[in-house]
Amino acid sequence: MFNMRNAVFLERDGILNLPGVEGAYQIAPRTFNELNLNRAAIAPLQELKAAGFALIVTTNQPGVSRGHTSRREIDLMHRLIERTFSLDDIFTCLHDDSDGCPCRKPKPGLFREAAHKWQIDLDHSFVISDKWQDARAAQNAGCTSILIQSPWNGGGHHDFIVANFERAVAKVLQLQLQNTFNCLSA
Ligand SMILES: [Zn+2]
Repeated sequence: MFNMRNAVFLERDGILNLPGVEGAYQIAPRTFNELNLNRAAIAPLQELKAAGFALIVTTNQPGVSRGHTSRREIDLMHRLIERTFSLDDIFTCLHDDSDGCPCRKPKPGLFREAAHKWQIDLDHSFVISDKWQDARAAQNAGCTSILIQSPWNGGGHHDFIVANFERAVAKVLQLQLQNTFNCLSA
């Protein structure tokens, strides 16, 4: 497989921005002005980029279907997020459960779409998130999942669980090294 890239897929809310919390739920920003970026993620993401990974966000934004936000606000937020974190792309599901779309995580549609567009080798790619839906989607897509401890981890499958974003990035880099070593010694 020539020219295939490995990616790190990132959840948006709770990873790249700091959402509100109401009870058991994260509340995604409804407007550009409510967007509160997690600038502590900038430096670790540069390490992943330097290691050759494509940086791709996948995000469920059902607030558009539910009328809490608009496509325009989402686009404004995503332009800033893409630029701030030097991302390669952002893939968004704007649907709600009742739409039955193939892209709402835990379905793997956004990962498959990204893999097709960017020639990504999903088997050697990673997903970093604080939510079980991403771990499930990762499993469905063939990626390795790294969950950050949160109230949204759920009880299902994940490959690794770590304390914070820096640890998640360190885990990706460690696994990539092991993989390279295994390839060299094969
Ligand atoms: Zn969708």
